[in-house]
Amino acid sequence: MNQYDTNNIFARILRGEIPCHKLHEDLKTLAFLDVMPQADGHSLIIPKAPSRNLLSADPGELAAIMVTVQQISRAVMSAFGAGGVLIQQFNEATAGQTVFHTHFHVIPRHEGQPLRPHTGQMADQQVLKAHAEKIRQALAAQ
Ligand code: AMP
Repeated sequence: MNQYDTNNIFARILRGEIPCHKLHEDLKTLAFLDVMPQADGHSLIIPKAPSRNLLSADPGELAAIMVTVQQISRAVMSAFGAGGVLIQQFNEATAGQTVFHTHFHVIPRHEGQPLRPHTGQMADQQVLKAHAEKIRQALAAQ
């Protein structure tokens, strides 16, 4: 089994060493915007407990993660008027994983609108800031 690197970028976000556009935080999970969104509102949900991916995550953490995935999914649907939401989760580089701390992607979808590439272009920080605010408002209205 591959090891957990305590200096991966999401571990550093959890320690507050690098910033993120935070959407939600509770005892067990953190949600924030993906900086290279495949669609506007593309969000990431991570457990606070360290694990490399779903294969090595503590089963006891999974329910809390999925509750946050559900809350963020509802919020992005409402904030962006999406027709649907895509949940993605990659395990190991062979499957497309690039950051080795367990995370779920929540991506709003609109009919006929193709996704931008995975880990494509960095979004404008001001745009991300505005999108995060919209999602936080939708979360507050839930
Ligand atoms: P994955 O390929 O599933 O490991 O995806 C990692 C995701 O993290 C990608 O969609 C990246 O765009 C995103 N990402 C990388 N660095 C950051 C960061 N500092 N803040 C937010 N998202 C990031």
